[in-house]
Parts: sequence; C-alpha cells; structure tokens
Amino acid sequence: MSKSINTKGLEVWFVTGSQNLYGEETLKQVAVHSSKIAKSLNDAEAIPVKVVFKPVLKSTEEIYNLVLDVNSSKNCIGIITWMHTFSPAKMWINGLKYLQKPMLHFHTQFNRDIPWGEIDMDFMNLNQSAHGDREFGFIVSRMRLNRKVVVGHWQDKKTITQIAEWTRIATGWHDWQGAKFVRFGDNMRYVAVTDGDKVEAELKFGFSVNTHGVGDLVGYINGIKETAITKLCDEYAALYKLMPSLKKGAGQHQSLREAAKIELGIRKFLEDGGFKGFTDTFEDLHGMVQLPGIASQRLMADGYGFAGEGDWKTAALVRAMKVMGNGLKGGNSFMEDYTYHFEPGNNLVLGSHMLEICSSIAGDKPSCEIHPLGIGGKADPVRLVFNVAAGPALNASLIDMGDRFRLLVNEVEAVAPKNKLPKLPVARVLWKPLPDFNTACAAWIYAGGAHHTCYSQNISSEGLQDFAEMAGIEYVLIDKTTIIPNLKRELRVNDVVYKFNK
Ligand code: MN
Repeated sequence: MSKSINTKGLEVWFVTGSQNLYGEETLKQVAVHSSKIAKSLNDAEAIPVKVVFKPVLKSTEEIYNLVLDVNSSKNCIGIITWMHTFSPAKMWINGLKYLQKPMLHFHTQFNRDIPWGEIDMDFMNLNQSAHGDREFGFIVSRMRLNRKVVVGHWQDKKTITQIAEWTRIATGWHDWQGAKFVRFGDNMRYVAVTDGDKVEAELKFGFSVNTHGVGDLVGYINGIKETAITKLCDEYAALYKLMPSLKKGAGQHQSLREAAKIELGIRKFLEDGGFKGFTDTFEDLHGMVQLPGIASQRLMADGYGFAGEGDWKTAALVRAMKVMGNGLKGGNSFMEDYTYHFEPGNNLVLGSHMLEICSSIAGDKPSCEIHPLGIGGKADPVRLVFNVAAGPALNASLIDMGDRFRLLVNEVEAVAPKNKLPKLPVARVLWKPLPDFNTACAAWIYAGGAHHTCYSQNISSEGLQDFAEMAGIEYVLIDKTTIIPNLKRELRVNDVVYKFNK
C-alpha cells in the first residue's frame, strides 16, 4: 500500500432496476436477490472498495433522485446497474442525463442454471435480465453514454475479476477529481509533447496543475532539520545497498544527506499543499544542490505522481495508475523509451530516465549510488539503481492532440537482462513491444505517442480503455493484433469522429 494513497471508505453503489408492474411479492424477491449479489461482490476480496446495495428502482423519480445522490456523495466512485426484471428504459432518461460518475452495466442473472424440471412462467417473469438488460442497454447507447458492460454470472470468478478491475480504474478516476499537481518551473525549453492545455485538462480530467517557483521549494528544503536528515539517511542504509562512498563517515556522505534533505523538502511541500504529484525540470533548479533523483523515485513509490521536464500529463497519469494498482503486486513508474538494441531477431527497448524510475517496479534490491550527471550543471545526484523483472507490462502515454486528448497504450513483454550493465548508473528495464518491435515503434510514432510514459506491471490495457471512456477521451491500443494499415485508418477515422463529437 502506498503512503499517499487512501481509498478507505470508497464505495460503488449497486443499483437494480425494475418496475411496479410485477406486484409486491415479486419486487420483494428482486430486492432479496439483488442484495445477495451486492453482498457477494462486497465480500469479494478482489474488489478494493465497498459495494453498497441500494433499494430497487421502479420509477423515473426514484432513478432521478438516486442519480443526484450518486453525484453528490463524496465516497461513491460509480455505480453498477443491473435490471433484474424489465425496467422500461424511458424511466432512466432523466436520471442518466445527469449522471456524472462512471457506470458499469452488469448483465447477469440471479439463477445460474435453468431449473429444467421446474421452470414455469413465474420463474420466467422473475429472471428476465436477458431482455431487461437489453432494454437498458438501448437507452444508454441511444444517449451515447460511455459505460462498461460486464457479462457473466455474479458468482463466476472471471466476472468478479472484471468488476474488480473496473472498480480499480474508477478509483483512479475518482482520485483525479479535484486533485492538485504542482509543476516546479515550466516545461523543458522547446519540448512539444510534454506541454499541453492545462485548462482543457482540468475541464476534462478534474485535476488542476499549477506552477510554483522552485524558490518556494528551496525554502522548504532549507528548512529541514539535521536530525530528520540523519534519520532518513539511516533508512536509506537499511533499505538499499549503499555505495561505500555514501556511507556515514565516507567521502560522499554529505551528498547523501543533501539528497535526503531534498526528499524531505519536496515531501513536506506536497503534504502542506495537498498535492498528489509533481514535475520538475533540470533547467530550473535554482538554489537546489542536486537534481531530485532518489527523492522522485521514493516519492513515486509512496504513490505520488511524477514525471520529468515539466511533463504534468504523465505525472498525473502515473498518479492515477498508482491509485488503480494500489495494493496489487507489481508497480507503476514514470518511464522513457531511452535507447535501442537492434540485434537481428532480438530487438529490444531499454527504458529508463536520467534518474527517476520508481522503485515499485524494482526486480531486485536497489543500490543507492552517486554518479555525475552530464546535464543540469548541478552536483552529482544520488539515485537508486536496479533492474526490472521480466513479465507482461504496458506503456501508457497521454498526449494533447490540440482538439482532444489521446491515451495511447502499448503492451510489452519485459525481458530479464542477459548482460550486466556495470557502467549504467540508472534503473532500467528491457522490453519487447507487441506485436513486434518494428510495428510497435512505427505505430507509436504514427499515433504521436510521447517519449514519456507510465510503465505498468499491474494495470491492463482493457482497464485503461475503460479509464479513457470515463474521461471521454480517445483511446488507441497497440497490441498483438496491431497492423499498421488498420492503425492508420483508426487514427484518420478518429480525427473525423472527434471533430463532430465535441
Ligand atoms: Mn525525459
């Protein structure tokens, strides 16, 4: 669990639709079934939030009032809807028109099996989600509302897993609403993709990005007490393999203290300002002794969003994905496609950054090292160095296309490094992008994907598609099925779609 993430108390509301036509007895039965399903989902360990049963909805007014409650509830992150019986969908129009939170339409049925020997018209009337949910689906499609449709019996493990992942995605979306991110200094000079429309982002995503002069931060750093610095240095020594020169009494121990002071200063700045993440730029570090290396790495590991060079979009995305993955195995980190290995038949990407890769994705115990940094003109920064374990992962990039935001995702397969990298003083990961190196890189470039991404070991591409739909933005996936002609067509079609679909 990450220190800066708190999903305690969050709820999804389980909402059942019906109508008054069936009479008291049937509606009682509907409520019993529905609360059983809600309870079972609530008990499912995979679902990270409470699932709260809401009384069965039978009229336009009840639905409208429920939606108002959903919108105004601080803890409700979204709703799961299910039509146990037939719920004439015109009743839903006025409510759904105002719904401001994510919706999952759960297409299920209370009875798993048809009771072959017993089935009669009473059973048929009670268990009619098969067509009741179709009526509901029509109105949601007719209203052009985004939602997730999950199909399956409510006790089926696969179904529960799907609901659980959607719920995680919704916690990330919920976390963005009203979130504050701080940008120390501006964008790295002349860089295009890291820039973008922060006003539109606040409208679309719910988070704000505001700048503080690095001097404000330096004030915090300089206010850190020596005793706190000593304590954090001891923590570094306990958690990581400290390079000998950084140890207490050794020649560069003062640099370790400086790094600890920077971490404590940024942490306090974020806490005092209620910020969920930050970005900095090495071109504007006046008054700072080092570029924040280990500080950024450890703050990310504690759940804060981060990206370098003023890249507030990636910082916000890293934060959201950390919330989604909170408590799961694996991690999420700021990442950059750094350099290539063009060996025939074994093309690889080496992902890294100057310093700031999150230790939540470390495959081994990080070593804490100090090395010179060629750019920035500051003292040598302290950083954590580690390899990342093999396995499936993905890179996600949020870019501003001018008339819309695009979330671009590429599934990758991380591979364990065969060679030692004794002279590479940064954390790194090697991966093969899907479907293959050439197609993936070409597709990424056609789609305008950034060099900065969030690298994830525990969020699926399907989940990120749901996320894009919650935000109402474009989603483009590069995976094992991608071929360039189709991708180009998709991008061209999307350009038209988003021109008309404002
Ligand atoms: Mn960069």
